[in-house]
Amino acid sequence: MTTPRALEARIAKIKAALTTLGDLRPGTLSQQYNVCGNPGCRCKASPPQKHGPYYQVSFTAQGKSQTQFVRREDVPAVRTQLRNYQRLRTLVDTWISAGLELSRLRVDEARVRRTKMRGSSAHSRENRA
Ligand SMILES: [Zn+2]
Repeated sequence: MTTPRALEARIAKIKAALTTLGDLRPGTLSQQYNVCGNPGCRCKASPPQKHGPYYQVSFTAQGKSQTQFVRREDVPAVRTQLRNYQRLRTLVDTWISAGLELSRLRVDEARVRRTKMRGSSAHSRENRA
Protein backbone atom coordinates (compact mmCIF):
# COMPACT_ATOMS: atom_id res chain seq x y z
CA MET A 1 0.00 0.00 0.00
CA THR A 2 1.20 3.51 -0.77
CA THR A 3 1.79 5.64 2.28
CA PRO A 4 1.37 9.43 2.51
CA ARG A 5 5.11 9.64 3.08
CA ALA A 6 5.84 7.76 -0.16
CA LEU A 7 3.47 10.05 -2.06
CA GLU A 8 5.06 13.15 -0.52
CA ALA A 9 8.47 11.85 -1.61
CA ARG A 10 7.14 11.25 -5.14
CA ILE A 11 5.73 14.79 -5.31
CA ALA A 12 9.01 16.26 -3.99
CA LYS A 13 10.87 14.47 -6.80
CA ILE A 14 8.43 15.85 -9.37
CA LYS A 15 8.95 19.41 -8.05
CA ALA A 16 12.72 18.95 -8.23
CA ALA A 17 12.47 17.61 -11.81
CA LEU A 18 10.31 20.58 -12.83
CA THR A 19 13.04 23.03 -11.83
CA THR A 20 15.52 21.29 -14.14
CA LEU A 21 13.31 21.46 -17.23
CA GLY A 22 14.86 23.50 -20.02
CA ASP A 23 13.14 25.51 -22.75
CA LEU A 24 9.88 24.03 -23.86
CA ARG A 25 7.07 24.51 -26.28
CA PRO A 26 3.88 22.61 -27.04
CA GLY A 27 3.17 21.16 -30.44
CA THR A 28 3.85 18.55 -33.04
CA LEU A 29 6.67 18.79 -35.56
CA SER A 30 5.90 17.71 -39.10
CA GLN A 31 7.62 17.95 -42.44
CA GLN A 32 6.21 18.80 -45.81
CA TYR A 33 7.28 18.53 -49.41
CA ASN A 34 5.91 21.15 -51.74
CA VAL A 35 5.25 21.63 -55.43
CA CYS A 36 5.98 25.05 -56.90
CA GLY A 37 4.38 26.98 -59.76
CA ASN A 38 7.32 26.64 -62.16
CA PRO A 39 6.20 24.38 -65.07
CA GLY A 40 9.72 23.11 -65.94
CA CYS A 41 10.72 22.40 -62.32
CA ARG A 42 11.96 19.03 -61.02
CA CYS A 43 8.91 18.95 -58.74
CA LYS A 44 6.80 18.41 -61.91
CA ALA A 45 9.07 15.65 -63.30
CA SER A 46 8.13 11.99 -63.35
CA PRO A 47 8.76 10.83 -60.71
CA PRO A 48 8.45 14.27 -59.07
CA GLN A 49 11.26 15.59 -56.87
CA LYS A 50 9.29 17.84 -54.56
CA HIS A 51 10.83 20.74 -52.63
CA GLY A 52 11.61 20.24 -49.00
CA PRO A 53 11.44 18.97 -46.47
CA TYR A 54 9.96 22.03 -44.80
CA TYR A 55 9.39 21.79 -41.07
CA GLN A 56 6.50 23.20 -39.13
CA VAL A 57 5.17 23.01 -35.60
CA SER A 58 1.44 22.82 -35.03
CA PHE A 59 0.13 23.73 -31.61
CA THR A 60 -2.84 25.17 -29.78
CA ALA A 61 -2.44 28.38 -27.80
CA GLN A 62 -5.29 30.24 -26.11
CA GLY A 63 -7.72 27.86 -27.76
CA LYS A 64 -6.51 28.61 -31.29
CA SER A 65 -4.57 26.12 -33.37
CA GLN A 66 -1.52 27.59 -35.02
CA THR A 67 1.30 26.50 -37.26
CA GLN A 68 4.79 27.95 -37.31
CA PHE A 69 7.47 27.38 -39.88
CA VAL A 70 10.75 26.05 -38.45
CA ARG A 71 14.08 26.51 -40.17
CA ARG A 72 15.97 23.30 -40.79
CA GLU A 73 18.86 24.46 -38.56
CA ASP A 74 16.44 25.09 -35.70
CA VAL A 75 14.84 21.62 -35.87
CA PRO A 76 17.12 19.95 -33.26
CA ALA A 77 16.46 22.73 -30.70
CA VAL A 78 12.73 22.65 -31.40
CA ARG A 79 12.68 18.85 -30.99
CA THR A 80 14.29 19.28 -27.55
CA GLN A 81 11.70 21.94 -26.61
CA LEU A 82 8.84 19.67 -27.71
CA ARG A 83 10.32 16.80 -25.66
CA ASN A 84 10.62 19.06 -22.61
CA TYR A 85 6.99 20.03 -22.98
CA GLN A 86 5.97 16.34 -23.05
CA ARG A 87 8.10 15.81 -19.97
CA LEU A 88 6.29 18.70 -18.26
CA ARG A 89 2.92 17.14 -19.08
CA THR A 90 4.04 13.75 -17.77
CA LEU A 91 5.35 15.32 -14.55
CA VAL A 92 2.15 17.32 -14.04
CA ASP A 93 -0.05 14.26 -14.70
CA THR A 94 2.02 12.22 -12.25
CA TRP A 95 1.75 15.01 -9.66
CA ILE A 96 -2.03 15.17 -10.11
CA SER A 97 -2.36 11.38 -9.69
CA ALA A 98 -0.19 11.44 -6.57
CA GLY A 99 -2.15 14.45 -5.29
CA LEU A 100 -5.46 12.64 -5.72
CA GLU A 101 -4.18 9.59 -3.88
CA LEU A 102 -2.62 11.70 -1.13
CA SER A 103 -5.85 13.63 -0.67
CA ARG A 104 -7.79 10.39 -0.29
CA LEU A 105 -5.30 9.07 2.29
CA ARG A 106 -5.41 12.34 4.26
CA VAL A 107 -9.22 12.23 4.38
CA ASP A 108 -9.06 8.60 5.56
CA GLU A 109 -6.47 9.52 8.20
CA ALA A 110 -8.62 12.37 9.50
CA ARG A 111 -11.64 10.07 9.70
CA VAL A 112 -9.64 7.45 11.65
CA ARG A 113 -8.41 10.18 14.04
CA ARG A 114 -11.94 11.45 14.64
CA THR A 115 -13.24 7.92 15.19
CA LYS A 116 -10.44 7.22 17.69
CA MET A 117 -11.18 10.47 19.53
CA ARG A 118 -14.88 9.66 19.77
CA GLY A 119 -13.97 6.13 20.88
CA SER A 120 -11.70 7.32 23.68
CA SER A 121 -14.15 9.93 25.02
CA ALA A 122 -16.92 7.32 25.03
CA HIS A 123 -14.55 5.04 26.89
CA SER A 124 -13.76 7.66 29.54
CA ARG A 125 -17.47 8.29 30.06
CA GLU A 126 -17.91 4.58 30.62
CA ASN A 127 -15.13 4.68 33.20
CA ARG A 128 -16.79 7.54 35.06
CA ALA A 129 -20.16 5.80 35.09
ZN1 LIG B 1 9.30 23.16 -58.11
